[in-house]
Amino acid sequence: MNIDSIQNGVVIDHITAGQGMKLYHLLKLDETDLSVAIIRNVVSRKMGKKDIIKIDADIPVNLDVIAYVDPGATVNIIRNGALVEKRQMELPETLTDVLVCKNPRCITSTEQELKHIFRLTDRENKVYRCIYCETKAGI
Ligand code: ZN
Repeated sequence: MNIDSIQNGVVIDHITAGQGMKLYHLLKLDETDLSVAIIRNVVSRKMGKKDIIKIDADIPVNLDVIAYVDPGATVNIIRNGALVEKRQMELPETLTDVLVCKNPRCITSTEQELKHIFRLTDRENKVYRCIYCETKAGI
């Protein structure tokens, strides 16, 4: 793919340098056969260095994941070679099936079909807690 000229796809820009690979895995892009480019340590006037992910397919990306890992990122939707939407991220109130509760006594570790849901309890410090057992999330 020509990474500079996506016709239809998603460009995740302004990713904090070093977070690109983590996002790539959390968005489960490694499990797809889509054409994806991760550009690391791009020199940015605003950020010093940044990572960029370009997905050469118009697929829905999980914005909650991006907002959680890197609230400063921007998501650009490109259709027919033109930027049609630019989305700023904001920490989501809840995260569903993004994080896994690490508490072995949590109901989610015995009830496999339960969704792993975490609620934002402290926006300033970006603290999420399991809604079942209150365990703090860590990634
Ligand atoms: Zn839990």
